[in-house]
Amino acid sequence: MSSIIKTELLGMELKSLESFVQSLGQPRFRANQIYTWIYKKAVSSFYEMTDLPKELRMSLESAAQVSIPRVLKQRVSADGTRKFLFEMNDKKRIETVVIPQSGTKDTRYSLCVSTQVGCPVGCLFCATGQSGFQRNLNAYEMVGQVLGSRRELARKFKTNEELITNIVYMGMGEPMLNYDAMISSIHTLNDHKGINIGQRHITISTAGEVNGIKKLAEEDLQVTLAISLHAANDSLRDRLIPLNRKYPLKLLFESVRYYTERTNRRVTFEYIMLDEVNIGSEDARALITSIKPLLANVNLIPYNEVSGLEYKRPSSNKIRRFYNLLADGGLNVSLREEHGGDIEAACGQLSANGER
Ligand code: SAH
Ligand code: SF4
Repeated sequence: MSSIIKTELLGMELKSLESFVQSLGQPRFRANQIYTWIYKKAVSSFYEMTDLPKELRMSLESAAQVSIPRVLKQRVSADGTRKFLFEMNDKKRIETVVIPQSGTKDTRYSLCVSTQVGCPVGCLFCATGQSGFQRNLNAYEMVGQVLGSRRELARKFKTNEELITNIVYMGMGEPMLNYDAMISSIHTLNDHKGINIGQRHITISTAGEVNGIKKLAEEDLQVTLAISLHAANDSLRDRLIPLNRKYPLKLLFESVRYYTERTNRRVTFEYIMLDEVNIGSEDARALITSIKPLLANVNLIPYNEVSGLEYKRPSSNKIRRFYNLLADGGLNVSLREEHGGDIEAACGQLSANGER
């Protein structure tokens, strides 16, 4: 391996890329060409950037890199969901999932981005949370998951069409604990000269990091905010999601009110259903009282069981009953469809070893 530190071009804004090519003694417009190769074609090798002069390709090769991560392993579910195991430059591994969207004639995919290797929040029901925390991902490593996945899908389906149209920050990690990199990755994904995914097609999911929610309220972004609630009383939530001890429900709901008032955007509360834990009539009542006054929907997610963890998915009867209680109580409620359960690619089943 070379000991020279190369400049990472992935995640660099066009303006900075222009300065960089100028620093190599090249005209500015070359930056546009490189930008197109990276973001429109997911090409990471300078030798493949065939409209650049050979001499520039050689100097780029020695001075720069484009770290679209390598796919080490890929699993495909019966329903078309794919899970990629990616390796970063430092050999750390993360998983990214692409999920086919139902109801579209030509299949389009949502991509579930990871923001950290592992997760420091440590929720009791979550495979990622139980696997510990290793490090934050850089913005380019988040963007790299999109490009790496796009490249795989393009090869598989032999098309140049852009198959990934929605991004959800719901993979491994807590996005709000890696705030700046997460926001920077959104700007890159959003750029119409590049990957061009509209802000309205992007969702950020948080376990309730109140500071992050307030900061997001001030960003002037059109993204959707999803909050993992999972319990409507503090004693249960303290246990399930340790972050609740720092930000109890009162503070969480205050931050949501601040967010909706500032942005006028509806938030989604995610609620995983855990058998015998959080789906009783009392839970439904508490949820209705807390959520009804807010500009919000509730998305119910049947728990995906994780081997080694004690939690169980409720029967479909119990799922239906809880759904009905919330709907009858006047909440705007939906039930999440299942994807990728057969390849451990469903929410909360991701971990860095890829071997489970
Ligand atoms: N850290 C963020 C985003 C990643 S987790 C957050 O917690 O919101 C994405 C979603 O999957 C969260 O709602 C999380 O609570 C949920 N989840 C975690 N483990 C799960 C499991 N085993 N089954 C179903 N959902 C799970
Ligand atoms: Fe982290 Fe989210 Fe898993 Fe909790 S549910 S441990 S916040 S990834």
